[in-house]
Amino acid sequence: MKLDSQKIEPMVRSLISRLAENGHEALVVGGAVRDLLLGITPKDYDIATSATPEEVRKVFGRQSRIIGRRFRLVHVMLGGHLFEVSTFRRRPSIEERTTREGDDGVMIWSDNEYGTRDEDAVRRDFTVNAMYYDPLKDEIIDTVGGLADIQARVVRMIGEPEVRLAEDPVRLLRALKLVGLFGFTLEPELAAAIRKLAPSIALSSKSRCFEELLKILAKPSAASTFAVCQEYGVLDHFWPNLATGWNSPAGRLMRNLLQLRDERVAAGVYSKSQTLGLATLALAFVGPSLRQGDENPGPLWSTSREASLRCREALRIFFEPYPVPKFLQIRTREVLMLMPSFFQAEPQHHVVSHPQYRYARELFHHLAKLQGWDIGQFAHWPEASPESARRSNHEGEAGARDGGGGNRRRHRGGRNRHHGPKPAGGQPQ
Ligand code: ATP
Ligand code: MG
Repeated sequence: MKLDSQKIEPMVRSLISRLAENGHEALVVGGAVRDLLLGITPKDYDIATSATPEEVRKVFGRQSRIIGRRFRLVHVMLGGHLFEVSTFRRRPSIEERTTREGDDGVMIWSDNEYGTRDEDAVRRDFTVNAMYYDPLKDEIIDTVGGLADIQARVVRMIGEPEVRLAEDPVRLLRALKLVGLFGFTLEPELAAAIRKLAPSIALSSKSRCFEELLKILAKPSAASTFAVCQEYGVLDHFWPNLATGWNSPAGRLMRNLLQLRDERVAAGVYSKSQTLGLATLALAFVGPSLRQGDENPGPLWSTSREASLRCREALRIFFEPYPVPKFLQIRTREVLMLMPSFFQAEPQHHVVSHPQYRYARELFHHLAKLQGWDIGQFAHWPEASPESARRSNHEGEAGARDGGGGNRRRHRGGRNRHHGPKPAGGQPQ
């Protein structure tokens, strides 16, 4: 099996060459190799290397920065692209895990033991995510049977599914994401382990689960991924509110809205918008409570301050138990509170110039379509100007951690820095 090396971001080759010139092995790994083999241009690149973080820093100097405690890696900035470069690691042995203070030996919470490339492959989650690509030699390195599984479109856990899921229950979501995204099937033992261990997802730290939720929303397959989570009984434990409402009228509306949003993401209308994703999930569930007390209810809620306060509270309850960062809470509320404006006869400047206008308009159009409203009657509301579209798109693309705008693309590498669930009573990750 070959991959199309033309699809690789050129900076990846420069980064790897510079490490190689300094005597270090360095390879593309993980989702980027998987995507390239599927003919998809990767959005980000995971780079794995034999160099320690300090050695990587020596090569790239001020273009690099060591980050993370539980999973130390290096951010390297090249040609305006940010890459995360991580050192080959091995799976900590059971002795190492059990002798750590407070560790029950099942869940991995730290992953800083360096190892060889082949050890690095087996500590990864699925065979399709554990292949390496050397862009200098145009060579794929597959020690776990990933190529065969990609061809068969199968998600297969490396090692014992139950053990590896118990080590890190976020892997449950990661497996289901591959099913939702690519239509892969789960290897039967993995499928059975997921059903059995579905409740364990609730043991993972809320911040890691929320990060996964945002990653699900970043793909054009959010509706199918949530559907697969529901099918395997994982949604009940991952996001109980969504699971409870799944088959209600609001749940059906939510799924249809998400499907329309996914089609637009797939068409490349916008790359990632966390805000629009969260507002799309919330609209159908939160909408009814925004109308409470409206004397003359129109098709949507009023834009009053009271409605906005109710919206804040309703969103908080809907997203429980997740700690939605404040900037995303505010933007999600803004999208919902802009929506009734589209019934005004004249476009209002403060609405059209609002940073969330583009997303409010988008969501409103999806809702209008599903409700059978005549879209023509809203045609006087312009599409956002290209400039504001670009601005709000970048806001949407920024990671939840920094919350900032910025127009750098992030190429993230070896991502296990959040490895392992939060131990009971431990530090949030
Ligand atoms: P994408 O970035 O397209 O969502 P990905 O597979 O690259 O998918 P990342 O979160 O970027 O996902 O992780 C990079 C790689 O790190 C994975 O491909 C996998 O090899 C490894 N990895 C990530 N999370 C885990 C985990 N929880 N357990 C084991 N390996 C993991
Ligand atoms: Mg990745």
